[in-house]
Amino acid sequence: MVDGPVTIQLPVAEQARLNREKADTYHRYHIDAAETDSRQKYPRRFNVKVGKFGLAKLLFKEFFKYFGHWDVVFSRPCTYGVFSGPVGGFSPRPDLCVGCLRCEVQHPDFVKVTHNPELAALGDSYMTSKHIATIDEEARKGSVPVRGQGYRGRFGGPGFDQMFTDMSEIVRPSRDGIHGRELIGTSVDLGSKPMRLTFDKSGGILNAPKMMTIQVPFIYAPPPDAVASGIVPEILVEAAGKVDTLVFLPENTVTAQGLAGENVVPIIAPTRIGNIESHGNGTRMVEMSSWNLDAWNQVKEHPLLVSVQLPLSGDWKNTMMEMIDNGVSIIHLISDYHGESEDGGFIMDLYQEAHFALVEKGCRDEVTLLGTGGIAGADHLPKSIITGMDAVGLDLPLLIAMQARLTGDTKTRGGPGVKLPRGLDKEWGVQRILNLSCSWRDQLLEILGAMGVREVRRLRGEVGRAMWCGHLEAEAFGDIEGFPGGEH
Ligand code: SF4
Repeated sequence: MVDGPVTIQLPVAEQARLNREKADTYHRYHIDAAETDSRQKYPRRFNVKVGKFGLAKLLFKEFFKYFGHWDVVFSRPCTYGVFSGPVGGFSPRPDLCVGCLRCEVQHPDFVKVTHNPELAALGDSYMTSKHIATIDEEARKGSVPVRGQGYRGRFGGPGFDQMFTDMSEIVRPSRDGIHGRELIGTSVDLGSKPMRLTFDKSGGILNAPKMMTIQVPFIYAPPPDAVASGIVPEILVEAAGKVDTLVFLPENTVTAQGLAGENVVPIIAPTRIGNIESHGNGTRMVEMSSWNLDAWNQVKEHPLLVSVQLPLSGDWKNTMMEMIDNGVSIIHLISDYHGESEDGGFIMDLYQEAHFALVEKGCRDEVTLLGTGGIAGADHLPKSIITGMDAVGLDLPLLIAMQARLTGDTKTRGGPGVKLPRGLDKEWGVQRILNLSCSWRDQLLEILGAMGVREVRRLRGEVGRAMWCGHLEAEAFGDIEGFPGGEH
């Protein structure tokens, strides 16, 4: 029996209201992409050559056949408008050609469509004109390029094309993460995560994790020497701040241009490591440009995070182990722009060697591995993570996003000549980098969603989720006489 008025509590409704209020205060991470026009035109994809006599004959025939339907007569034989200029096919507009080859198939006697050699001359054997055109489109639109024609790339091949990723429907619980209804995490931690916490007698933590989180598993690597100072670093610093990632820059650039900040990682030579104190303004991390035990001992207890560069050359694995034994928690593996080590090894193999060496040593989670070099497309990002990297560095794609033309030695780190587009301004450059970052993150979400992986941290070293073309071929054809390495 209850005396007096009964107050009906609505804890569920009240809780729901509070939850809603709280949810409204959350900031859902996203990158502000916005279509950004090109500053210079890329060479067109195809050249279209038309025999005038053959075309005149066709028009004469069609004039009577489609009399009155002049739009039809003057667009033939291309429905994409290549032959629809003021004087029709007599002055074709090859910029509109999509390479469907309909005209050539129908009229092989007077139409010839060929690849534009000017486009093919862009890039090199690794960063091909196709990569460049794709990066340009991603940096212009900020979205995932959709062709509507299925995958038109190669199945198998050298480098990253060796790897297929497992995106079967069976492991595909939902597309919700891609459309933003639920979260797929792309943030990664840099620094050390102790395997267990240890406490002093009064309960204080003795080995608190020393790490930071960035929102995407990629950082911006230093630009080549030709543009190591000036507007390019300024653009990268502003973009890194907006994306919430890091940009690594030579210490003298940071100092001379006053770029120090929480998203900037000054790269300091071991002989000048004492300068660590001079970078204020919220600097959270510095990088030592090579391994040196004495220099490391000076900074290993410093409150800033310190990463150490390790070029993939010589006996790099032993050096890596020495670094770990001395407590280095962020190791930055560096290859050339083609993703190769000094002796020609490719990063997909070398990254696995590094990753599994740490797994075997039982300290993988205590060390962050960054890998820079050889990233030429959005798919190279998850593939590098699958082979063992926590995060990767972007280098030449950032310049290509800003429509820079690369010349000279495009393989050796720091070597390429760089011609920036005329009228490059900071606002435009920053937006192009944001667009590229957004597009590549979205493509990463696609692959994570398709794999059913909820956060990119769990993709690291998941080689079981990938297949190697060479292994599959050996399995299928190894017993067949004549197969390389098979029975003879
Ligand atoms: S290849 Fe196709 S798009 Fe190009 S000109 Fe011929 S019909 Fe037009």
